[in-house]
Amino acid sequence: MPSPLGHALASAILHKKKVPGSWSGDWKRLLFHMFCGMSPDLDFLPGLFLGNISLYHHGFTHSILGAGLMGAFFWVVYGLWRRVWKVNDLFFLMGLVSLHPLMDVLALDTASPYGCPLGYPFSKVSVMSPYVFFQDIHRAGLRNFLFGKNNLLAFGIEAIFFLPLMMALSYREGRSRGAWFIAVLISFFVTATALRVVKWVDGRALFMSVWSQM
Ligand SMILES: [Zn+2]
Repeated sequence: MPSPLGHALASAILHKKKVPGSWSGDWKRLLFHMFCGMSPDLDFLPGLFLGNISLYHHGFTHSILGAGLMGAFFWVVYGLWRRVWKVNDLFFLMGLVSLHPLMDVLALDTASPYGCPLGYPFSKVSVMSPYVFFQDIHRAGLRNFLFGKNNLLAFGIEAIFFLPLMMALSYREGRSRGAWFIAVLISFFVTATALRVVKWVDGRALFMSVWSQM
């Protein structure tokens, strides 16, 4: 799974596409969208209280149906909050939350439960992409989560991956196709280079990544 930072940045990008203007223009809605994008990982909470943080992780909230229902729930919350009931807001929030399990599928997963049950409850198959773009996150203890070498590396790579895209969005309100093209190229090139440097410095293949195989 990518870190909460990766999910928050991806959600911020979708927010900016949805809500034009400066990043701080509707910052409450920005924070709301970032929370929605991270929300499937709330399935950590019951396990946290029971002493095994992964006990209920990658369950129903990481399926397309579960994420869609969560999006619908957040649409009701948003409607009650802002007194706005638009169908395209509903689809936006369903898509925003559903992006979370799709991103998790594209991340290295080295701990059980592996992959995401995207088709649950109709299918119990757990999906994990053979090609990944994000590092996994180690969750053994808060200190290890925040400051462990593996996770700091993951946070850095996610920031490097999303930053050019956020800059392209800020440039001329994201209407410049040239800026988008350059941003995508920079994102992929810098991430690929970072992963190769990490592999070279560390001496072992930390990433089963499409990039590290180049
Ligand atoms: Zn997740």
